[in-house]
Amino acid sequence: MIDQIKGLHHVTSMAEDARTNNHFFTNTLGLRRVKKTVNFDAPDVYHLYYGDETGAPGTIMTYFPFPKMAQGRPGTGEVGTTVFSIPQGSSGFWSDRLGKLGVTGIKAEETFGERRLNFAGPDGDGFALVEVKDDARLPWTQGGISEDHAIRGFHSVAMRLRDDGATSELLKFMGYEVQEERDGVKRMTIPGGNGAHLIDLETMPNISRALPGAGSVHHVAFAVENRAKQIEVRKALMDTGYQVTPVIDRDYFWAIYFRTPGGVLFEIATNEPGFDRDEDTAHLGEALKLPEQHQHLRGLLEQHLLPLEG
Ligand code: ZN
Repeated sequence: MIDQIKGLHHVTSMAEDARTNNHFFTNTLGLRRVKKTVNFDAPDVYHLYYGDETGAPGTIMTYFPFPKMAQGRPGTGEVGTTVFSIPQGSSGFWSDRLGKLGVTGIKAEETFGERRLNFAGPDGDGFALVEVKDDARLPWTQGGISEDHAIRGFHSVAMRLRDDGATSELLKFMGYEVQEERDGVKRMTIPGGNGAHLIDLETMPNISRALPGAGSVHHVAFAVENRAKQIEVRKALMDTGYQVTPVIDRDYFWAIYFRTPGGVLFEIATNEPGFDRDEDTAHLGEALKLPEQHQHLRGLLEQHLLPLEG
């Protein structure tokens, strides 16, 4: 077992329309856009990052908006629900707000002793807000949502699996332990985690594999403090038999990826260097930022990529 992982780092999903996506996260949910860049592997597509003031690990929702992409078909082998933490007593506010703004799929429920509000994103993305008592993380409040209500970061992700055996073994190896099992859902946690340290495993033996598309989670990334710890994790995973990519420079963090037995793509990402490496914290997410290898495309991309606002 390894102890370098402290919870989620980011969740990356796909969307159909960049402007709709930007509006939903910055306006409807009140998160801060902390980076406007491109998909490093397909630079004609945006890569948009939303989170708290600095884009702290455990708060970062990221999107690749692929114009005209068809919606995915939910199923097993994917993250089915991405869950954010909100303050205790704030789910009524959110239910009203999301309803007024035309958000679909709003459903309040109580699970694991927590008040929870499920809802759908613009592409049918599975989301929920869960009331958490005393989440110490500071929210971004300049998105128009007060501190009493604002999102603190991720609470968890829920993975839908045909069988949770191999995935829960992997998560145990990664430092998670089973906290509770309820109604066919196994909740796993990292003691001393970063606030975004819960994972729910939903077993659905008779549901077919998901077909990825807009509204689907592409991968889920786990946080390690620095590159040295990432190398340790990579070695431990490879010694256990996982096929892990080399370390890849994503400008704002370093990344390694591997496919898990349940079908979900995992990433391990470093907390360093962070989103202020190429712009001031006061202006995060405002200018189009390109990695060195795509700088020569700036003129073309500025014409091709549609404005997010206005
Ligand atoms: Zn990633």
